[in-house]
Amino acid sequence: MRSLAGRLALTHLLVVLIAVAAMDALVLVAFERLALHQRQVAAFTETNIAVNLVEPYYRPGCPPLESSPGLLEVVRSYATQSGSRVLALDGSGRVVADSMSPAGYTGRTLTHPEVAAALAGRSASRRRYLPTSGWVLYTVAPVLQDKRPVGAVFLATSLADVTQGLAGVARTMVLGSLAAVLVAGLAGVAAARSVTGPVVRLTRAVERMGRGDLGQRVAVRGRDEVATLTRAFNEMATRLQEEDERRREFLADVAHELQTPVAAIRAMAEPMAAGDDPSAPRQADGSDLEVYREFAREMAGQAERLGRLVGDLLELARLESPKVRLTCEEVDLADLARGVLESLRRDAEAAGVDLRAGSLEPVLVVGDGLRLEQVLVNLVTNGLRYAGAGRTVRVDVSREGGEARLRVADDGPGIAPEHLPHLFERFYRVDRSRSRRGGGTGLGLAIVKRIVELHGGSVSVVSRPGEGTTFEVRLPAARGPVKMS
Ligand code: ADP
Repeated sequence: MRSLAGRLALTHLLVVLIAVAAMDALVLVAFERLALHQRQVAAFTETNIAVNLVEPYYRPGCPPLESSPGLLEVVRSYATQSGSRVLALDGSGRVVADSMSPAGYTGRTLTHPEVAAALAGRSASRRRYLPTSGWVLYTVAPVLQDKRPVGAVFLATSLADVTQGLAGVARTMVLGSLAAVLVAGLAGVAAARSVTGPVVRLTRAVERMGRGDLGQRVAVRGRDEVATLTRAFNEMATRLQEEDERRREFLADVAHELQTPVAAIRAMAEPMAAGDDPSAPRQADGSDLEVYREFAREMAGQAERLGRLVGDLLELARLESPKVRLTCEEVDLADLARGVLESLRRDAEAAGVDLRAGSLEPVLVVGDGLRLEQVLVNLVTNGLRYAGAGRTVRVDVSREGGEARLRVADDGPGIAPEHLPHLFERFYRVDRSRSRRGGGTGLGLAIVKRIVELHGGSVSVVSRPGEGTTFEVRLPAARGPVKMS
């Protein structure tokens, strides 16, 4: 059987069937024992009564005569009264009177073990199966004189009523049990379906999801394991859908970002190509050459922008890949800051910004030096780009507790609070044209965040419009403060 519901229902049915059959067997055996015991007790009583009745015919030293009329009469009348066959035996086990005579056992010596026991002084009984009369109970009790056995009385009682009673009980029980098994089987099928129903629904949803339909959700019923699994599936589906939407948005953003410089290059290249046409008008003073140069410079600028954008995209893709590897070493953030300040000095001068080192406390972190440098370059470049001429950008490095802190603060125009939660998202820009003019790609802060997180740190921003902006990077410090030499 291949379906889980089928196997569950079948197992349930088998267990119920075995349990009911075992119970039936136990009850029948117990019932039979009880009925037999009662019959045995009654048979012993009857045998003892018969012993009392025949006792007067046993005289000391003189066994009763075979088929003596008095004894035969007593035996026959008691047999009629008790509904059993009654035999009187002498001390050697020979039948001296049989209630079924003349055809009976009179004159035959009985050798049954229960007869031997009675002739030894002990009453005994035994159940036997006779092909002619079915189950019968033999009960034999000694006839005592001066406490010594001188003969015995043998009572044969049919057990047909016990057997019939037992068969009746068995029939009722089997019918009852079949009904119980049927009900249990139906209940098993219902229970199995209630377990596997949600699993089947989940499976269908997973299959549809596999075919690309990420909007799949399954209704959660109850609080059992399947409900937990369903909840987990729904959460996973939501996350996958969100991730899918983010991916689409990102692709659309990338396409849009690439489109602008490509369109600009095309817009400039087409007239240049038309200029090659010998039929196009030319000016004698060579000013068309100057226009060409201007276009070519503009195109080179757009190409550079494209290159930066593609470079940042590649870097972000590498950083977001699960296989990203950091080349880890001990890096002193103060040294790193000094290096970056030096390398950006010219850019700062060009932007008319005062780029300053604040307090640069030596702090070691374990990390990828080049990538940590990238963090600082991106933050300082943003400061230079957005603070505006005549403003200041200040870099500080400090150690606080087990953390290294790197701050890049400017006194520029600041950022309105509604933008702050989105600042680290890919392609999020407060002022798109300003970012473009300054050579921004909209990916700088996303790269910063990813690098810092890969190092087990965090980055935050505090900004007040009109007062300035401070970015703070926190990284786990490597060990105690570095000794100044
Ligand atoms: P971009 O390449 O556009 O600079 P970023 O991811 O580096 O992209 O920054 C995202 C946006 O955050 C910028 O476009 C800018 O609007 C804003 N921003 C970043 N740094 C500053 C700053 N120091 N002062 C004001 N605005 C800033």
